[in-house]
Amino acid sequence: GSTIGILGGGQLGRMISLAGTAMGYQFVTLDPTIQSPSSPVARQIVAEYDDVDAAREMATISDVITYEFENVDAGVAAMLVKKSYVPQGSKLLYTTQHRLREKVAIEAAGVPVAPYRVIEGLASLEQAMTELGYPSVLKTATGGYDGKGQVVIRSEDQLASAYAELSASGRELVLEQFISFACEISVIAARNPSGEVKSFPISENIHQNNILHLSIVPARITSQVQREARRLAETLAAKMDVVGLLAVEMFVTEDGQLYVNELAPRPHNSGHYTMEACTTSQFEQHVRAICNLPLADTTLLSPVVMVNVLGQHLESVIQRTGERDEAATELGIIPKLHLYGKTESKHNRKMGHINLLCKDVQDGLDWVEHTNIWRQ
Ligand code: ATP
Ligand code: MG
Ligand code: MG
Repeated sequence: GSTIGILGGGQLGRMISLAGTAMGYQFVTLDPTIQSPSSPVARQIVAEYDDVDAAREMATISDVITYEFENVDAGVAAMLVKKSYVPQGSKLLYTTQHRLREKVAIEAAGVPVAPYRVIEGLASLEQAMTELGYPSVLKTATGGYDGKGQVVIRSEDQLASAYAELSASGRELVLEQFISFACEISVIAARNPSGEVKSFPISENIHQNNILHLSIVPARITSQVQREARRLAETLAAKMDVVGLLAVEMFVTEDGQLYVNELAPRPHNSGHYTMEACTTSQFEQHVRAICNLPLADTTLLSPVVMVNVLGQHLESVIQRTGERDEAATELGIIPKLHLYGKTESKHNRKMGHINLLCKDVQDGLDWVEHTNIWRQ
């Protein structure tokens, strides 16, 4: 069979490898962590992500190259595109590595984003605040994740300190109007090189401390908004010439208005629910897309709530796995635990997730409430 090389061997690399191994592919990952999550299922080259020689070594044994994160080093990306087969190309990486470039590309596809301004100094921030109004969110254009690299500015007296905090990074800054959303959703769309596009059912996402806590599917929004959200994600995938997956995070306002928050050109935490709840998982679909196989059906088989297992939850979760889950039985829930095999557990580190297959998403939410593990 063919070998797929993955830049990054974290949980996403592991789950891509697991899905692809079942399809007959072999995997090699590049990751600096010895015993990375992918290491039980993929051959691993232990090296830093920006190590061009190591990436070249991976390329020589791979037929197809993909990545599990968007901050791929530019030198590595250029070498790989030139010397091996990277069906996703490097343009999508270039776009999604930078919030401003990303917003420009989203708008060019005719898809709405929150009003924003480029910030080039304190005076420019003051001016932009008068235009966008309070509250607004100041973000670094690059490098942010889990809410790091952003500050909500709620009043004039927070302006200077917010600017000082973020400009210290030396990164470019962007100001976004704060959207007072009714809920947050995401749509994962797949596209193959032949131009076929398919999206997954919409996930409603609830964050805790800026980290994804729950994904709820079906999302509790009208079917009209669901259709529109999928249309927007599929439009972005097509207009941006995506190959592989494109995860699209959106805000939904009370009156059903949609704004795209950000994109990720890869499998997404909010798509983990697909592993048991859909006919095809996001990981299988990603492999199919980059290998230019026909995209598979994405039908939702059951309502589902996904809950993330972070470092602080792990002990309680493992303890529970040895016990009969009376709460689940009573609520008619089938819990499916996935652990990523990380050797070190840390506060807020993603260690695994649980897909709660249920008759109604409220039952899954009741289980989360009842189990009393997730308060921190
Ligand atoms: P991720 O871990 O998803 O990559 P991130 O650090 O890139 O996160 P964003 O997704 O931009 O950050 O923002 C994190 C969260 O902050 C959003 O999910 C949303 O809850 C809130 N947020 C960000 N921007 C806005 C906005 N313009 N209006 C309202 N809420 C916002
Ligand atoms: Mg992000
Ligand atoms: Mg986000």
